[in-house]
Amino acid sequence: MKRKRRVKILATLGPSSSEEQIIQQLYEAGADTFRINMSHSSHDTMRELIARIRRVEKNVGYPIGILADLQGPKHRLGTFVDEKISINAGDIIVLDSNPEPGDNTRVFLPHPEVMAALKPGHRLLVDDGRATLIVESCAEGSVTAKVISGSSLSNRKGVSLPDTELKTSSLTKKDLADLDAILKEDVDWVALSFVQRPEDLAEMRRICRGRVGVLAKIEKPQAVEKLDDIIELADCIMVARGDLGVELPLESVPAIQKQIVRKCRRAGIPVIVATQMLESMITSPVPTRAEVSDVATAVYEGADAVMLSAESAAGKYPVEAVSTMSAIARNVEQDPNYPGIINAQRPEPKATGADAISLAVRQIAETLNLSAVVCYTATGSTGLRTARERPTTPILALSPIPETARRLTLVWGLHSVITPDAKDLDEMVDKACHIAFEEGFANPGDRVIISAGVPLRTPGSTNMLRIAYVDSDGMGGI
Ligand code: PEP
Repeated sequence: MKRKRRVKILATLGPSSSEEQIIQQLYEAGADTFRINMSHSSHDTMRELIARIRRVEKNVGYPIGILADLQGPKHRLGTFVDEKISINAGDIIVLDSNPEPGDNTRVFLPHPEVMAALKPGHRLLVDDGRATLIVESCAEGSVTAKVISGSSLSNRKGVSLPDTELKTSSLTKKDLADLDAILKEDVDWVALSFVQRPEDLAEMRRICRGRVGVLAKIEKPQAVEKLDDIIELADCIMVARGDLGVELPLESVPAIQKQIVRKCRRAGIPVIVATQMLESMITSPVPTRAEVSDVATAVYEGADAVMLSAESAAGKYPVEAVSTMSAIARNVEQDPNYPGIINAQRPEPKATGADAISLAVRQIAETLNLSAVVCYTATGSTGLRTARERPTTPILALSPIPETARRLTLVWGLHSVITPDAKDLDEMVDKACHIAFEEGFANPGDRVIISAGVPLRTPGSTNMLRIAYVDSDGMGGI
């Protein structure tokens, strides 16, 4: 489906949106890629959702991306005899390895690797930061902590550890089992949660062996510190503002979001801005003005995609949330200031043939006011480098490989089409013009620009550009 916007929408599926009919409505309202959250999905649920998305894909006739999001190491406290305790600043509580329910003096910390890594001065943020404890001293099998803020602790609340680097991998046993099941299915992206260091991604890449794109969720201060190295090993980045806003001061998140988006744009890998974008739409059919502004900011920054979590997964208005996000994006992109703002952050081309061609393609398309850029992209590389230029001209990404076309649905400005490889240059031109015409991007008499890496299917080999007229049959002319 031809979208009237360049930024993409990633919608999380869940109880409010798991039926095939709703998935189709979400697609029609503007969702380009769907996210399955493995924190809340069994393997059977995941497989069923994938089957439903693929049926919708068949109905609509366009590639749809699927992202499976691994839970990662979520840490929790144990339980309390009375389910809950009251706490006050200055209280002392011991976290230990005794699985018995706790009380006002002690509670079970069921993670030996956390116990081993905690040091005096480290903070424990419980229940999304509603309570803060600080480690005073550590002994074999126990840690003594002081309450800094908060009024209660209840059973199995999550704990964030902003100051503690765990020596264990970000891939837990559950993640490995989930990954094994995911890799047997038709999934395009897998997200790794709580990435701490580049090695986490290297491990994931070794397991995935190119079968899916590897996405790193940036939600820990340690990942922000090593962002450049993480970006080098990732195929995609998510600004996971939920946990980021717990582990770092909330007020630092907007600047970090900007830094991450800019670095990803420079690297030419897709970047998603996620979490609480239209949070009030979980229960309200209209968002707040501040939420509209938040989505708009991500679009003005040139992010590849914006994401809905509970709004589409568990809210009362999943379809409205997608169409609202889409309407905000369309309005931003029609703002006469938008191209200038996007251009201000355009990265310099690297000294490669692919970037030189992508830059030239954008300049020619904009100078000659061409109707479309059509790129042939088997591996996705030409598509990504073209999108990195953020041209004002619409881009069609033609790929013979369905997995590539699906992955590219997450990338700024790319309209993905699955089509067999062309035999020769003449067929490439004909096919490009015909598809631009059929898809509603060009009329007879319009001109398009075509780019490709010849021979086809060689990643990073973008080396050809050609301007062509769409003739009266919607085929390629001279
Ligand atoms: C986040 O923390 O912003 C996020 C997207 O992660 P999750 O919702 O999977 O915890």
